[in-house]
Amino acid sequence: MERRNPSAASQPAGKVAPAGHEPAPATKPSGAPPSASPTPRAPRPKRGVPEGLWQKCDGCQQTIYRKEAEEILNVCPKCGFHWYVSAATRIEQLCDTGTFEEWDAGLRPTDPLGFRDKKPYAERLVAEQKRTGLSDAALTGTGMIRARRVACGVTDSSFIMGSMGSVVGERLTRLIERATPQKLPLIIISASGGGARMHEGILSLMQMAKVSAALARYSQAGGLFISVLTNPTMGGVAASFASLGDLCFAEPRALIGFAGPRTIKATIRVELPKGFQTSEFLLEHGFIDRIVARKDLKSEIARAIDYCSR
Ligand SMILES: [Zn+2]
Repeated sequence: MERRNPSAASQPAGKVAPAGHEPAPATKPSGAPPSASPTPRAPRPKRGVPEGLWQKCDGCQQTIYRKEAEEILNVCPKCGFHWYVSAATRIEQLCDTGTFEEWDAGLRPTDPLGFRDKKPYAERLVAEQKRTGLSDAALTGTGMIRARRVACGVTDSSFIMGSMGSVVGERLTRLIERATPQKLPLIIISASGGGARMHEGILSLMQMAKVSAALARYSQAGGLFISVLTNPTMGGVAASFASLGDLCFAEPRALIGFAGPRTIKATIRVELPKGFQTSEFLLEHGFIDRIVARKDLKSEIARAIDYCSR
């Protein structure tokens, strides 16, 4: 005797999660419409799911209860995929509570070329600042990691893809130049899908050289630079400071590379190897030193600092 036929299955699902979120992949909304209305309830004003209560995981395509992922530092509880985190959250996750002090917050991007694509760059900047609460794509400063003072910078892929414009380059350069005489370990976490910022043309490309030169002086002075690559780290960011770490860590399954796979494929016309441009692939090929899960990042950095400063 099967009991579940008389719409028993649809009842709890309707209660727990609206619109069948719970039953795993739920590609097709099959079954829901016919049995969904047992009583002629008046059509409630659509409360809907509160913004961002559920999120589809890019790793496993499942719909995940966001809070559950947030509790484990924005990592998918089902497949371990590392989701996006904002620069501010990164700092919170990385630095001991209340120890971070921002540097160069007053630097503001300008529009030296009068550039426009779909909309003028000047307008885009204002819109991005409003949307993200950041003044540009990098946050830099000093803080403590398990009671070790460090200089740290984070780029945020939500601000024009985390691309390196003049402000990002200048903030990072000043960060490095302060870390040098103060002999602070330097941690830069990259989350930049955009590389150089085309809206600033050559001024943006110059940042690659400027940051790299500052890193060279930092290195000559004996500093320890730990570069942490996260999803995504591409273009001019990957081609400059992100790849110059004394130690290069990467989060699992992050996309890391210079040009995107489609561009490469179209250029060289060769089938790309499986897993190309992922942390795992790059570890295997010696491009990075270690894959570090987000929950272990703080401890791993602290350990590396201790190890290298002995
Ligand atoms: Zn997942």
